[in-house]
Amino acid sequence: MTVTRFAPSPTGYLHVGNLRTALFNYLIARKAGGTFVLRLDDTDPERSKPEYADAIKQDLEWLGLEWDRVETQSSRLDLYADAADKLRAAGRFYEAWETPVELDLKRKKQLNMGKPPVYDRAALELSEAEKEALRAERGSGVWRFKLEHARINWTDGILGDISIDAASVSDPVLIRGDGQVLYTIASVVDDTDMGITHVVRGSDHVTNTATQIQIIEALGGTAPNFAHHSLLTGPQGEALSKRLGTLALRDLRENGVEPLALLSHMARIGSSDPIELRASMQELVDGFDLSRFGTAPTKFDVDDLYPLTAKHLHAQGVSAVRADLHALGVPSEMQDAFWRVARENITTRRDIATWWTLCRDGAEPDIDAEDAEFVAEALTLLPAMPFTDTSWSDWTAAVKEKTGRKGRGLFMPLRKALTGMQHGPDMGQLMPLLQVVRAKT
Ligand code: GLU
Repeated sequence: MTVTRFAPSPTGYLHVGNLRTALFNYLIARKAGGTFVLRLDDTDPERSKPEYADAIKQDLEWLGLEWDRVETQSSRLDLYADAADKLRAAGRFYEAWETPVELDLKRKKQLNMGKPPVYDRAALELSEAEKEALRAERGSGVWRFKLEHARINWTDGILGDISIDAASVSDPVLIRGDGQVLYTIASVVDDTDMGITHVVRGSDHVTNTATQIQIIEALGGTAPNFAHHSLLTGPQGEALSKRLGTLALRDLRENGVEPLALLSHMARIGSSDPIELRASMQELVDGFDLSRFGTAPTKFDVDDLYPLTAKHLHAQGVSAVRADLHALGVPSEMQDAFWRVARENITTRRDIATWWTLCRDGAEPDIDAEDAEFVAEALTLLPAMPFTDTSWSDWTAAVKEKTGRKGRGLFMPLRKALTGMQHGPDMGQLMPLLQVVRAKT
């Protein structure tokens, strides 16, 4: 049974980088007919907020990434305390009292001597009396996991065979001086307890994975299959971290990006497969293959989402936009015909309003000086309203006959007189929808 999880910390809004992680885990679970767990990593009481947890759920719901179970770490603190006791009993957990400033100094010294800045385990040398003295002076220390200095190996679902020397990594702090349990141990306990079989996350977690494999083993568990996807960069390869705040999923939603456009894009960028717009979640599931993803940083350009959004909308029947059309006040009997005209001329749903306004109110005509006379004459031949399917062809035929104009010289001034624009919907289809013509006869 395949069980995956998406484990965001509810300390902010989800952005495109988080989505990649969520989507991969979701698709793996669905493809295997397994379970997808939403786990809220909320052990930091100061930064975790219920409104962010709600927002995360809303964003996932918007995208159709349904979870089978939701778990919150803040309600599982007892389990983490038990695990800590187990590590203590196994001699793999030790208290340390260095302040951040002291640690920083140690790191600087090591770097000056050309050594890697790894915690020197000075706390392991403390006698009981020294520990008592530090405890009296500084209160509770942090609790570090004592890594076993051996190579840590795993076969990564994306990176391939990985081997990390545990001696090159600092013993991770798992519990803070104030007692706050940190992600590194909480995650391990949960992954084991929840039977997680596959963990996909960003490559910024590779070192965590190495230490977590040892912690899992020290607790008597079995490591899940790990895979680390590359991190997103901007279109020029620049770091995206600073801009992620502007790439929140809710902003994309607000800007009219369609869920399937976004998901189709995210399910393919960074892989050797071409980006294809998928018509359903099932198609995304069927077409997903983790082994197709590369290790190089993945370029992401938010502008790429809009052509896909347009393509998605062009393929939609009127039922997909009924609510939008009702909200705009498009009369029911016109909705079909209106949508056929509008959908080919929009990028996002927000653009639908432009075309409805044109149909309902008419457009300020755009008439070039040299065409003024021609247009005035043409308007005397305009068929009576309401227009029909043949109004445009009838009108242009009559104007051609009367003036001798043809081709672009005939059609363009008439289009601009009726719509105020050079481009736009097929005039034959648009005319029967026009309620008002503002060009004067
Ligand atoms: N809460 C962690 C994060 O957002 C989860 C990482 C993981 O998937 O283990 O980075």
